[in-house]
Amino acid sequence: MKNNLKIVMVGAPGSGKGTQSSKMTVEYGIPHISTGQIFREKVASKHPLGKLIESYINKGEFVPDEIGIQIVIDRLKEEDCKNGFILDGFPRSLYQAELLEKMLEVDYVINLEISEQRLMDRLCGRRVCSACGLVTHVSALSGADVCPKCGSALNVREDDKVETIKHRMGVYERETKPIVDFYRKRGKLIDVNSDQDSDKVFEEIKEALSAVC
Ligand code: AMP
Repeated sequence: MKNNLKIVMVGAPGSGKGTQSSKMTVEYGIPHISTGQIFREKVASKHPLGKLIESYINKGEFVPDEIGIQIVIDRLKEEDCKNGFILDGFPRSLYQAELLEKMLEVDYVINLEISEQRLMDRLCGRRVCSACGLVTHVSALSGADVCPKCGSALNVREDDKVETIKHRMGVYERETKPIVDFYRKRGKLIDVNSDQDSDKVFEEIKEALSAVC
């Protein structure tokens, strides 16, 4: 496998970007940089911009570039990104993709393709542990309502409420989908069928990457 692998994950909300990135970070030994997670941490740690960031996330709107981009740039400058990274949630618009291109060269972009029905099932059933942060799904809980790892309460993400999910889907179609073509034209896109079990999706990703790296 190539050293210094720089990967971008693209896909609608709920397409499995976070899940697949977590598997890839273990497999390839490079950090998983989730912009959504970075923003949620700013909210949780009561960062001066936390309240403002939270108001956008809760509405399913983008955190404005004037706030978000510097945060991403700073994260990518950290030591652990020197040997590559998996970028999940950035870029999310053509403007952000063009900006990233000026900063560094991405090697591959994994495009997770999934049906709308499956997206709704995944997002509506997603639960996050209030203590350890485990992300799980009601279908894996056999009726339990506490974290299977640490026993703490499970929460529904504010932006996983049905109306907000619908709004996020619209934002994805309008703002984010154009970056798929942007990267396809540059020969960097790897399409992966995410409409299947997450282990199978991961196998597809590994196969596709080992064929090109
Ligand atoms: P995610 O965890 O990727 O679903 O992101 C959750 C939320 O964080 C999004 O709905 C946006 O409000 C915000 N967000 C994440 N990444 C970005 C980005 N690149 N640009 C603007 N807002 C973002």
